[in-house]
Amino acid sequence: MRIPIVAGNWKMNKTIAEARELVSAMKNDLAQLAATGKVTVVLCPPFTAIEQVAGLVHDTPIKVGAQNLFWEPKGAFTGEIASAMIGELGEYVIIGHSERRQYFGETDESVNKKIKAALAQRLQPIVCVGENLAQNEAGQTQTVVSGQMRGAFKDIARDDARGIVVAYEPVWAIGTGKAASGPGANVVIASAIRGTLAELYDDATAQTVRVQYGGSVSPKNVAEFFAQPDIDGALVGGASLVAGDFVAICRAAVK
Ligand code: PEP
Repeated sequence: MRIPIVAGNWKMNKTIAEARELVSAMKNDLAQLAATGKVTVVLCPPFTAIEQVAGLVHDTPIKVGAQNLFWEPKGAFTGEIASAMIGELGEYVIIGHSERRQYFGETDESVNKKIKAALAQRLQPIVCVGENLAQNEAGQTQTVVSGQMRGAFKDIARDDARGIVVAYEPVWAIGTGKAASGPGANVVIASAIRGTLAELYDDATAQTVRVQYGGSVSPKNVAEFFAQPDIDGALVGGASLVAGDFVAICRAAVK
């Protein structure tokens, strides 16, 4: 049984004061839902607010993560954050989000290096894959997503692979209000994500890895995704900034 995981990617939103306000508004509900053991709840604020958020939820089962890391352990890399720095504050890290691939030049190779750095620190990576609109319209979704999977998991040992969370995020669905369909996302996850894991490792690994859907998830459409057999939760952007919406999405995972 895979426990669904719902992660809130706050992106570049929320000052420390605003983060305190948002967490206060949803902490009790999220803590109760996480305490059922039926959903893993993760908050991924910007770096500057992680310590505050971690402090606010330390007495709850709510988990905290970062949105990025750099693969080197330390040194002259101005502006970057190492895995050990994140490890002092949280347990998760989002890697290879499409916005990082699009605006900051991240590639399958850099994603792979970041995953290895996260694993070395015992951080749990949430690895994002997904095709863009042109690729989708050209019928390249399977090829693109399985290629990203192969790049991300290159030289990752099977036991480590089993602990990685994958987020299937079609780029055209992120922040657009135009979500994929539940069955459509399930097909990609079953074939391009679990199918590739089965080829790289084995069926047991393919069935162990938790795979989220991400892209315009809202309280209105979330049930359709959570009803799918291969979807184990959601990576949530915009709706994670609205306390009632994020709680509703986490509640839907428990149902
Ligand atoms: C995301 O940031 O990963 C995301 C899916 O954003 P949104 O939910 O706003 O589409």
